[in-house]
Amino acid sequence: MSHPLFDISGRTALVTGSSRGIGLALAQGLLEAGCTVVLNGRDGERLTKAAAELSGDVHTAAFDVTDGPSVAAGIKDIEDRVGPLDILVNNAGMQLRAPLLEFTDSDWHRIIDTNLTSAFLVGRETARRMTERGHGKIINICSLQSEVVRPGIAPYAATKGALKMLTKGMCADWGPSGVQVNGLGPGYIETELTQPLVQDEEFSAWVRKRTPAGRWGSTRDLVGGVLFLASPAADFVSGQVLYVDGGMTSVL
Ligand code: NAP
Repeated sequence: MSHPLFDISGRTALVTGSSRGIGLALAQGLLEAGCTVVLNGRDGERLTKAAAELSGDVHTAAFDVTDGPSVAAGIKDIEDRVGPLDILVNNAGMQLRAPLLEFTDSDWHRIIDTNLTSAFLVGRETARRMTERGHGKIINICSLQSEVVRPGIAPYAATKGALKMLTKGMCADWGPSGVQVNGLGPGYIETELTQPLVQDEEFSAWVRKRTPAGRWGSTRDLVGGVLFLASPAADFVSGQVLYVDGGMTSVL
């Protein structure tokens, strides 16, 4: 039997950007832990397909996390239809790789909106309700690049570094109302977002050599950290980023 401090069965969770990749794996983990889970993404059809492959109390809510009015309507719809949210995982994100000198204004705004503004919009809307109820868990999916960067991904690293500080700021503002806000920082994980890197044999070999664990991470590797941060075991943990990176951020 598992320890009661880790029991989150019966809680309701929203995972943004969960039609594939890391979000989908986290949604599956929360379902396995007995949560009711709401999947989100912009493509309703893809969400329905993803939900059909999962078992448990799973719902879908298609809306664009970068658009304020859609977010407000989406969160209201979820709470009316499914119930009060206990757990929010701000996971939706994107990568755009290009030398900084060639990075366009529109791509800059797009990546800031998708990776950072989304967490503010969905976080604020959900926290308005959580703070009123006096409890809630918010987990922002940060990155190894919240700490370190490589050539060609400066805008992405800027969004993830800012998301780390937004996590601390949310902790400062909402902690007094019983809402714990933490970050989870994945290292190099095999997903659609990283397919170009996984297929680049030279880069893949570098990742394996550079990571003390000696391998790429799987989406499944991230589940335990999210379950912990969503559970009563983490009731006094707030404003932290838990790096799940096979040790990469700790070694040169
Ligand atoms: P992914 O495979 O590209 O999946 C992204 C998900 O987000 C999809 O479900 C996508 O669905 C959704 N999405 C994108 N823009 C959206 C929007 N505006 N509104 C609503 N949903 C949106 O990405 P991933 O690799 O799983 O990454 C997930 C998160 O982990 C991101 O925040 C990423 O930065 C972070 N991360 C990933 C890695 C890695 O190695 N993969 C490492 C560190 C951190 P639709 O396109 O249908 O909207």
